[in-house]
Amino acid sequence: MSAAPPWLAWERAHVWHPYSTLQDPPPVFAVESAAGVRLRLADGRELIDGMASWWSAIHGYNHPALNAAVEDQLGRMAHVMFGGLTHAPAARLAEILVEVTPAGLEHVFFADSGSVAVEVAIKMALQYRAARGEHGRRRLLTLRGGYHGDTFGAMAVCDPVTGMHGLFRGVLPEHVFVPRPEVRFGAPWDAADIEPLVAAVDAHGEELAAVILEPVVQGAGGMWFYHPEYLAAVRRVCDAAGLLLIADEIATGFGRSGALFACDHAGIAPDILCLGKGLTGGYMTLAATLTNAHVADTICGAEPGVFMHGPTFMANPLACAVARASIELLLADDWAAEVGRIERRLAAGLAPCRALPQVADVRVLGAIGVVELHQPVDMRVVPQAFVDRGVWVRPFGRLVYVMPPYVTDDADLDTLCSAIGAVVDGLPVP
Ligand SMILES: *Cc1c(COP(=O)(O)O)cnc(C)c1O
Repeated sequence: MSAAPPWLAWERAHVWHPYSTLQDPPPVFAVESAAGVRLRLADGRELIDGMASWWSAIHGYNHPALNAAVEDQLGRMAHVMFGGLTHAPAARLAEILVEVTPAGLEHVFFADSGSVAVEVAIKMALQYRAARGEHGRRRLLTLRGGYHGDTFGAMAVCDPVTGMHGLFRGVLPEHVFVPRPEVRFGAPWDAADIEPLVAAVDAHGEELAAVILEPVVQGAGGMWFYHPEYLAAVRRVCDAAGLLLIADEIATGFGRSGALFACDHAGIAPDILCLGKGLTGGYMTLAATLTNAHVADTICGAEPGVFMHGPTFMANPLACAVARASIELLLADDWAAEVGRIERRLAAGLAPCRALPQVADVRVLGAIGVVELHQPVDMRVVPQAFVDRGVWVRPFGRLVYVMPPYVTDDADLDTLCSAIGAVVDGLPVP
């Protein structure tokens, strides 16, 4: 093994990492290159990637078809402003998004990151209300245990406890929260699960603009998989109360949960849909907010007559080109069979963890495997323990989880699962 790169010590002192400190930060591992499902560290070690770079690298790294899409577009132009100009990569990406997403979502707004796509969705809901003269409808209803991003509008609809509501009290708008759905994916449906949401709509209906949620899979807020009937019921409640439904599929979009979109598990279409993460196959940042003709026509049909958002790097052509290529690649493969294979392999491979005294729950849905512990892991120790076993798994809090690239083969899935079993087995018993 070669030594750590010469810049690493300086980097650790000067560069923020996600949710990190600059004072004696926990270790970070320098990556030299990545291909397929392998991350190659600067010291020469190779890790099997269990994270798909936070849900995004669905086809693995350094994919020839995705590289070619970026290179081809780079030879034409890396970027042009989207105000007053347009280009084929944006048009062709929007076309395929309208085609593959749930019915009725016909209008596409390209944003730069997932959080911004959520801001755009919230702004759409509020402009929709303003256009209808419903100025009292400015609050959102959402679920506890949710995660929607780190910007202020998005933070305000994240779980108030695991989100940052205490730290930013007085700055964040105060929305209406209901308990997270309790009936699990795959368990018998119990209609009582929807009652808290119905009660909240009864109590706050006249002040609500929209409901925002992560359909079926709650990601960073708790890695929780709930019953699709809950989502179907939310759709009915929204229709009855005249509320817009915003589905945040930034994590779940593009097959991750076993359906192309998590909304498909319930056969519903939201009024507004947020996409990100896997959209570009993990190549670069891009997000999209889609809406239906009713919302778009309402916004554009009243003062100020335009939708009030327009980022500098809107619809970046490199990102749009690779996103279209990634979606074509997904649809050309039998993605459902691959995700189903991963689901079965993770379910079998993680099942033995249930017997460990450190483990509270094991759950798998699509290409997502979760081992929930009784106690939070020590982040100074646990990522290193995974690296020592040749895998990249980055837990948070009490959750050890994987969402590997769809191209991960059975042998690598088994290695990921046995590493999780071994590392969890080595943790202190509560
Ligand atoms: C990651 C995520 C976001 C935020 O996306 P960023 O690109 O990190 O801003 C929003 N919603 C959900 C469900 C996510 O998983």
